[in-house]
Amino acid sequence: MTKDNQNSPDLKSGKGSKDYSKYFDFSDAKVLSEDEFGKRIRIKGREINIMSEPNHRQEKQRGKEDVQVLYGNAVPDELRGIGEGKHYIIYTFGCQMNEHDTETIKGLLEQMGYRSTEDRKVADIILLNTCAIRENAEDKVFGELGHLMHLKTEKPDLLLGVCGCMAQEENVVNRILQKHGFVDIIFGTHNIHRLPFLIKEALFSKELVVDVWSKEGDIIENLPKKREGMKAWVNIMYGCDKFCTYCIVPFTRGKERSRRPEDVIAEVRDLARQGFKEVTLLGQNVNAYGKDFTDITYSFGDLMDDMRLIDIPRVRFTTSHPRDFDDQLISVLAKGGNLVEHVHLPVQSGSTEVLKKMSRKYSRDRYMELAYKIKAAIPNVGLTTDIIVGFPGETDEQFEDTITLVNAIGYDSAYTFIYSPREGTPAAIMEDNVPMEVKKERLQRLNKAIEENSRMNNEKMQGKIVEVLVEGESKNNEAVLAGRTRSNKLVHFEGSKDLVGMLVNVEINEVKTWYIKGEIVTESVAVNS
Ligand code: SAM
Ligand code: SF4
Repeated sequence: MTKDNQNSPDLKSGKGSKDYSKYFDFSDAKVLSEDEFGKRIRIKGREINIMSEPNHRQEKQRGKEDVQVLYGNAVPDELRGIGEGKHYIIYTFGCQMNEHDTETIKGLLEQMGYRSTEDRKVADIILLNTCAIRENAEDKVFGELGHLMHLKTEKPDLLLGVCGCMAQEENVVNRILQKHGFVDIIFGTHNIHRLPFLIKEALFSKELVVDVWSKEGDIIENLPKKREGMKAWVNIMYGCDKFCTYCIVPFTRGKERSRRPEDVIAEVRDLARQGFKEVTLLGQNVNAYGKDFTDITYSFGDLMDDMRLIDIPRVRFTTSHPRDFDDQLISVLAKGGNLVEHVHLPVQSGSTEVLKKMSRKYSRDRYMELAYKIKAAIPNVGLTTDIIVGFPGETDEQFEDTITLVNAIGYDSAYTFIYSPREGTPAAIMEDNVPMEVKKERLQRLNKAIEENSRMNNEKMQGKIVEVLVEGESKNNEAVLAGRTRSNKLVHFEGSKDLVGMLVNVEINEVKTWYIKGEIVTESVAVNS
């Protein structure tokens, strides 16, 4: 939830709360050399090797060139020992996509010999895997960089890296080069597999290495991943072509590219073999899965149908775009089995006019029709959503439309945000006449409505027996275990720690707003029951 956003600054003229122009002052930069492999510059005494840099214009373009699928070896033998006896820390900001990228980065680092630590003083490499979705996510990263500067002064050999969505932004990279020259590596979302080479380059050259690709490139399979626990994320596609007017993701993550079904199925089968209990299929708009295949006709519904045949207890997915959610998918999900009863269906606003300005490509009525269809086909489905308040020009009436929609659908929970202008997106230059106080009040009212609906839904569970995947001890009480139902509700109950990682049946006897409490009724349940 964002609370500290400012009204939309006039980014074009630079009159807003932030003056971006100051990040582009390269008057003190000296070009040392330039060839087809990039350029070397010097800023304030620091030599910088720019292999490739972000370019907003190119990020916007959607080329027709084929995406290749490469099955390679990301860490060649000569780079495998580089991290022997050394340690890493990765700080991850943002969504599940970033969390999953961090698992890949950890996998690469471990193949290089690095081991993880939580102690900054012991770390030889610290990476910030960043999020660009809202301004406060970016502020947190720059705050963290400020702290790390002191560590770097004490320990000059420490390698500091910035990657993820912020690294895809021109203004962020330029700001780092100008003001945070102690950073050693900047790389983006499209070339994570290049990390071993970038580390080698930074270690040996002592230069700041920048390698950010503006075009998405190929799909790289077989990257190592360090997964923990009993739940795993699996990317089924990358990028987004929806271009909602407020959103930076299509620029930072590139065009939609689907992984081949055989690769996704093989990965999920392997996770089942390893004993994982749940997988979440990931994509910015999973419902567009397969639309880019030119040689086969295979949709997200087909993929979910194939998931049912894999012996893994639970399969989830996120995120759905209402526009592409079709009847085939609903009928596959209704078959149940290991496809759980949870649909995250971001609505963003309950007003058709605002949805139009957001370019969401569906109306309030169309969304509601879809939500009711899902509810009718999948009894006990948990419906969750994302909502933005204070979109430029949002009127009181339009906000009321959001409240009435929330109450009509009766969501189980929601991620709610105050609109945050993102440079380079169409909404950032729309006139924003909603005062911050009003936005904050709207957020509070919205959260109250979501809370009431969540509580009402939880009350309906009183006395029911639900299947729970036990995830660990509750945060505040070690005697209590915490887990999730198939519909993704948090459940607390008393039990032995040996149950962690198992599926158990719990009878609900007390409900709260954000979780439910119960008593275990059987020690474990069979897979897929
Ligand atoms: N692809 C997903 C979708 O369309 O629902 C979600 C992507 S985004 C990582 C998660 C959520 O962040 C969005 O659903 C939206 O509610 C919110 N968001 C994106 N851009 C935003 C912005 N500029 N200001 C506030 N919230 C934003
Ligand atoms: Fe952003 Fe819209 Fe794509 Fe979601 S669908 S990632 S909100 S552009």
